[in-house]
Amino acid sequence: MEPKKVEDEAFVTLATDDSYSLGALVLGHSLRKVQTSRSLVILVTVGVSADMRSLLSSVYDLVEEVGEIDSKDEVNLTVLTRPELGVTFTKLHCWRLSQFKKCVFLDADTLVLQNCDELFNREELSAVPDVGWPDCFNSGVFVFRPSDETYKALVQFAEDKGSFDGGDQGLLNLFFQDWATKDISQHLSFLYNMNSNASYTYLPAFQQFGKDVKIVHFLGELKPWKYIVSEGKLMKPSESQHSEDHLQYWWDLYMSHVEPHLQFYQDAPYHE
Ligand code: UDP
Ligand code: MN
Repeated sequence: MEPKKVEDEAFVTLATDDSYSLGALVLGHSLRKVQTSRSLVILVTVGVSADMRSLLSSVYDLVEEVGEIDSKDEVNLTVLTRPELGVTFTKLHCWRLSQFKKCVFLDADTLVLQNCDELFNREELSAVPDVGWPDCFNSGVFVFRPSDETYKALVQFAEDKGSFDGGDQGLLNLFFQDWATKDISQHLSFLYNMNSNASYTYLPAFQQFGKDVKIVHFLGELKPWKYIVSEGKLMKPSESQHSEDHLQYWWDLYMSHVEPHLQFYQDAPYHE
């Protein structure tokens, strides 16, 4: 039986092109599979094709067009070695979804393994410590309250102060700068944003707690949709450190729920 829908709360993601949309499609299907009772919303920009939007609307309740916001901060993005992340400022638009009382933002490169609707019991801003610098939160998963006022303050802040990494994470951590010390209930468990490299960096912990993971995050340059499929088998590039089981689950969902609907790509760039 479908769970009763909670109308004023939503999971929200973002895609600025068709490539990240593939991640968003798998994410959306992973949320449906765990029978979330919340709405699914995706913010898209002009870079997402009409065919892709229509496919997105088969799994998302709302496909909302927003304008692109780019930090244009090449200096810090070069330090981060991720020049493409300036557009992640577009994420700020999620605060404008004022038809919802509370939302959980999920990056398009995350994958939900277990129902995590309990996240809606948390307050703005709740998030998981970043593995690289745990005094900062990772902005791939966070709980927030849409508000035009907060949106305006964030945009003003972005103009005045910018972001220390050129992306949304550096900006949001400056804006919510008391997150590290204010309230421990706003620190979410690593299970809600498990960096998929964690099985390599702390294998015993992964063996102990890995089965409880609720959300995996394929953080870094190499996204699951950039892997090569050859004769129906997933080819894992040698530099990949993503945990194999999670990557396989991503691909299983992709092959069963997404790939069959991509006929609109004449050259089929993402699959054989
Ligand atoms: N994103 C996007 N287009 C881009 C880059 C990023 O739509 O060109 C969105 C997408 O939702 C993505 C999020 O911004 O998941 C953050 O970027 P990414 O996940 O690549 O950063 P990482 O988690 O690897 O630091
Ligand atoms: Mn990400």
